[in-house]
Amino acid sequence: MLDQDIERVLFTEAQLDTRIGEIAAEMNRDYAGKEPVLISVLRGSFVFMADLTRKITLPCTVDFMSVSSYGAGTKSSGQVQITKDLSDDIEGRDIIVVEDILDSGNTLSYLLEILKARKPASVKLCTLLDKPDRRVKDVHVDYSGFTIPDEFVVGYGLDYAEKYRNLPYIGILKPCVYGGE
Ligand code: 5GP
Ligand code: MG
Ligand code: MG
Repeated sequence: MLDQDIERVLFTEAQLDTRIGEIAAEMNRDYAGKEPVLISVLRGSFVFMADLTRKITLPCTVDFMSVSSYGAGTKSSGQVQITKDLSDDIEGRDIIVVEDILDSGNTLSYLLEILKARKPASVKLCTLLDKPDRRVKDVHVDYSGFTIPDEFVVGYGLDYAEKYRNLPYIGILKPCVYGGE
């Protein structure tokens, strides 16, 4: 059972649902009269993206991109690669980048630079989780679900070595699972 590898549940399904409803309500107000593009950064944000978009009542479009920065480890390398690019042009569009977690900021500061160079009308960042203790790059967050301590979390889209994405809640992984104490 996947559950056995979890030390502690940080956010239950119900807590996630409530907070995501609040974020969507803010977006519905902020983008009234507009048609934003929500850009999910794969793979970690796919569950959040699916739940968030279904609470958005405005016309909007979705697109996906994939970057790799971690490999199978638990720390960001600072080396970021686009492994799948957007399908559509974003020039002149209001874009909202949807991320699972902002940690060192390496991935997002790089990604936001690339996206801004494509001349969208506006760029906002939405992250479900924010781990500010480990920030090395300054990244402005417009919508943040929860601020969390410096622990390695999994579930609700977030993986360790590609596992645990299917857990419906967010939990702290037992350090023994990844070779910690
Ligand atoms: P950053 O470049 O900000 O250090 O890392 C961002 C990416 O690292 C996230 O999108 C996520 O894929 C991964 N990451 C950072 N912290 C965690 C964590 O606690 N758990 C998991 N599963 N992934 C994390
Ligand atoms: Mg991510
Ligand atoms: Mg990962």
